[in-house]
Amino acid sequence: MTFASFNLHPRIASGVQALGYEQPTPIQLQAIPPVLEGRDVMGLAQTGTGKTAAFVLPILQRLMEGPRGRIRALILAPTRELAEQIHDHIGGLGQHTRSRSVTLYGGVSQRPQVEKLRAGVEIAVACPGRLLDLIGQREIDLSHVEILVLDEADRMMDMGFLPDIRRILKHVPVKRQTLLFSATMPDDIRQLAHDILRAPVTVQIGQTAPAATVAHALYPVAGHLKTALLLELLQGTDTESVLVFTRTKHRAKRLADQLKKAGYRTASLQGNLSQNRRMEAMDMFRDGSVQILVATDIAARGIDVSSISHVINYDMPDTAEAYTHRIGRTGRAAKTGDAFTFVTEEDADMVRAIERLLGAKLERRTLPGFDYRAPEPERSAGGLSRPPRGSRPPAAREPQRVTTPTPAPAPAAASDAWSAFRRRSRRRPGGVRPTMGRR
Ligand code: AMP
Repeated sequence: MTFASFNLHPRIASGVQALGYEQPTPIQLQAIPPVLEGRDVMGLAQTGTGKTAAFVLPILQRLMEGPRGRIRALILAPTRELAEQIHDHIGGLGQHTRSRSVTLYGGVSQRPQVEKLRAGVEIAVACPGRLLDLIGQREIDLSHVEILVLDEADRMMDMGFLPDIRRILKHVPVKRQTLLFSATMPDDIRQLAHDILRAPVTVQIGQTAPAATVAHALYPVAGHLKTALLLELLQGTDTESVLVFTRTKHRAKRLADQLKKAGYRTASLQGNLSQNRRMEAMDMFRDGSVQILVATDIAARGIDVSSISHVINYDMPDTAEAYTHRIGRTGRAAKTGDAFTFVTEEDADMVRAIERLLGAKLERRTLPGFDYRAPEPERSAGGLSRPPRGSRPPAAREPQRVTTPTPAPAPAAASDAWSAFRRRSRRRPGGVRPTMGRR
């Protein structure tokens, strides 16, 4: 099957071509035909499956005809980052159409958003809070909405947006097409779907488990050795872009500082940053000028960097679903990626929950040559682990290219173990591999 089978308008087809999409992904194959027919769709698919184009392409197709300058498609997203990504997809796929979209989210000045609305747009990509503000101020008219999309609906629930969504629904016409995308299907999403979708077609990709293109591994380690282990892993693994997750903003910032000191081009993405700083960090990660991004769950929502080679859970996520979301950042659109998770003794229950969700036992790995018995330093500032005495010093290194095919030489004692580890990694399907193309 090719994109030609969807009979998209030639201007849209040329956008698809410009982005280099050759084959539709499974979610696109399943969802695009019913959406084009005007059916409601419940899409069970995580980020990385190509779900954005699955709803953006039919929206663009619909907008090729009919009035312009009024909002005819409304897309709700949980975070600013995801809203911006959807907007980028619209800009890319719709580059030869005249459709205009605006992003609406809080934390930035409202004025440019209002000016765009006043100038006339056909698509609004909005986070619920700012949208409600604009509705309250009568700056936005949703009475012409023909198609409503709820993207990452489970995330929106997790973030407490359900009441806001129900309020927003009162401002869009009852007669409309509705699409709901979610990576997981908890009871409240099932209820919401039941309430707002009419005779929906359900399309499901890969259960609710992370993409099969991701190789998972657990690294059991004591809490105080996590940073040391991370440094060792980074040094011994060919990585392209690495996304590291921590539990708190504070830990994200501190770990990013430690990685910077160790010579890695690193940025942190956490809620304490201004919107501009967050965008800047994302852009640098996307264009490769930053190799490692250390993020919290909320800040990382919706990150779409097609070349993320490794997701490293420095801290275990709070839920198995959050694991799915984190891991969804790598192995995107049928590329392979590695997911490493550091586990301490306290994480045993969560490991079981994740394995239940995946329906498989995860591989436990130890890093040869790593001193797992190094004692805890006397003072571990901020609760973050520090490299143990005697581990490789975080000497400043030459800034590396994004791909690091040749790691800095390991100390003699550890080098054999390193070679063994790297050989093992290379043998693994979906393991360490050559550089992938960047978007
Ligand atoms: P999404 O799941 O929508 O966040 O998409 C994940 C990534 O896959 C994005 O970088 C898209 O640009 C890319 N993508 C989406 N559809 C295709 C396709 N048919 N072929 C290749 N890449 C795609």
